[in-house]
Amino acid sequence: MPLGQTSSIAFPFSRLDREPFWELVPQPCKTITPALINNTSSVSYLRKYALGARLDQGLSQVMQTEEGREALREALLLSCFSPEAQAQLREQSVINREAYDYSRILEEKSHLPLVKEIIDVDNYRPTARDQGFRRLVVTTYDHRCALCGVRIITPEQYTAVEAAHIVPWSKSNNDDIRNGMALCRLCHWAFDNGMMGVSDGYEVITSRHISAQPNAPGILLTLSGRGIIGPKDNNLWPAQEYLAEHRREFKL
Ligand SMILES: [Zn+2]
Repeated sequence: MPLGQTSSIAFPFSRLDREPFWELVPQPCKTITPALINNTSSVSYLRKYALGARLDQGLSQVMQTEEGREALREALLLSCFSPEAQAQLREQSVINREAYDYSRILEEKSHLPLVKEIIDVDNYRPTARDQGFRRLVVTTYDHRCALCGVRIITPEQYTAVEAAHIVPWSKSNNDDIRNGMALCRLCHWAFDNGMMGVSDGYEVITSRHISAQPNAPGILLTLSGRGIIGPKDNNLWPAQEYLAEHRREFKL
């Protein structure tokens, strides 16, 4: 696989069909035939037929320990990837783990009163911090745009929303979940540029500059005055002080 090319997790199922270290477990009343496996092109197709894969017991035991997983990771890197790709994948795997730790800490701290610097952020690389914040915000909002309600996830689990800071990171250094919202790309851009905001009653505000545009998408204007869509847990909704700071900044 050339560097930079994306793939689907469905593909290895057809490639590894005859490997001895796993077997596919069919959905109830379904049979998995070699022809069917060879046609697998997407995760949703695969899910129709397979519940999952059952790993060989020995391999499964190795995967229970951190050392075992590390050894497997190294063996895969050395046998399947170019030296250039190995270096990038090693770096990425460190970032993934750091991002996961960071999002867990943000989650734990979310029961605390609002504090600006809740974590010593210097301990984390910016990429890991971004990914950790993103993971927490996107899952807490269940992949739904807080302003327009859009929720689209591809079979490969790519989502239409991004994690937006209410008061930008560059200004606030604040990854508190209550300084975040999941927003689709258009709403994110509109929010960051002061075309949209949120009132103290959690209603969408649209700037008069949007209505002045002859080609602004109609959907943005219809959102004005509608309630935003927040997380299930009321304690994780955007904090009033951050929303107010955003409104002040853009005179909304
Ligand atoms: Zn949106």
